[in-house]
Amino acid sequence: GPRIGVLTSGGDAQGMNAAVRAVVRGAIHLGARPFAIYEGYQGAVDGGPGIREMTWDDVGNIMHRGGTIIGTARCAAFREREGRRTAAKNLLERGIDRLVVIGGDGSLTGTDLFRREWPDLLRELHERGEISAETMAAHPTLMVAGIVGSIDNDLVGTDMTIGTDSALHRIIEALDAISSTAASHQRTFIVEVMGRHCGYLPLSAAIAGGADAVFVPEDPPRDGWEERLCDKLAAARAAGRRDSIVLVAEGALDRQGERIDVDRLHDVIERGLGEDARITILGHVQRGGTPSAYDRWMSTLLGIAAVQDVLAATADSPAHIIGVRRNRLARLPLVQSIENTRAVAGYIKEGEYDKAIEARGESFGK
Ligand code: ATP
Repeated sequence: GPRIGVLTSGGDAQGMNAAVRAVVRGAIHLGARPFAIYEGYQGAVDGGPGIREMTWDDVGNIMHRGGTIIGTARCAAFREREGRRTAAKNLLERGIDRLVVIGGDGSLTGTDLFRREWPDLLRELHERGEISAETMAAHPTLMVAGIVGSIDNDLVGTDMTIGTDSALHRIIEALDAISSTAASHQRTFIVEVMGRHCGYLPLSAAIAGGADAVFVPEDPPRDGWEERLCDKLAAARAAGRRDSIVLVAEGALDRQGERIDVDRLHDVIERGLGEDARITILGHVQRGGTPSAYDRWMSTLLGIAAVQDVLAATADSPAHIIGVRRNRLARLPLVQSIENTRAVAGYIKEGEYDKAIEARGESFGK
């Protein structure tokens, strides 16, 4: 049967294991042969034990584990054409010409480049005597499907990405813990959460965690925000609120494009209220721990749909990302989705926040 490689690449995210498991078992169920590519693209570049055929049992007992059992990495060699040529050779040695890639927009960009270059890479390998004419003819195209693994939920076009829901759970657990200590001391806590270009985590956490204020990259506060923040915190305190929480995305900015980070917020609160606010940076805690129920079942559905997609693909079909829209699986055009995602980051950089929100809006279900 057809041979499918599966890999996880870029930053890890809870739920990647459920997706890997679904790809492996879905492939076997549909009569294909699944291969794990270890440590992101590095396994493909290295070959040998970097690529291994998977059995049904190899992916048993992994669904509840965070991270990814097949490893992830940032592979510099795959950014070079030579590395991709070596990767093509190693995949072909095992007859693999279909890939399911679970990663962020960088990883999926690499996948698309690999897919487009594939015929040329094979021609070069043949010219160098590294593959036969038969091998070249037998695998004229690379068929790929992407699944977005990113706790930031930053891909435009899909409502959710793998790991986001679990990360939100981690944040809420932390906020609950913080607010009990904050309440005891009548203190303000400033909490930094992930979200370089995407405010999904801070915004959702602010709502679910009952925060007093939140700062997100796509919607910087209007000038004079320092005073308004302090007034709001003071009013809440006067009304009897004992615990105050201010959430800030790691990529939050003001209208001048300057970072609003925990230290700046600390200064603002100290100057405005004479209060020594406490700072917590959640960092990698957000990526850790057990995947939520959602990240298990949704990643399972995504994995199976990705297998179906690469098995149904033909030479002319465009590459897809399997995502979620309005709680249903959706096939998104890979190239367009990544372009739209990069556009949002560009708008934020240029200070065109209305455009950023509009471009983001569709995947936030507005
Ligand atoms: P995250 O958002 O979690 O950082 P990502 O997938 O965007 O995930 P990157 O570090 O951008 O993370 O990419 C992961 C790997 O994908 C790179 O180390 C490289 O191997 C490959 N890759 C990324 N961009 C490209 C590209 N333009 N060409 C070829 N390979 C790429």
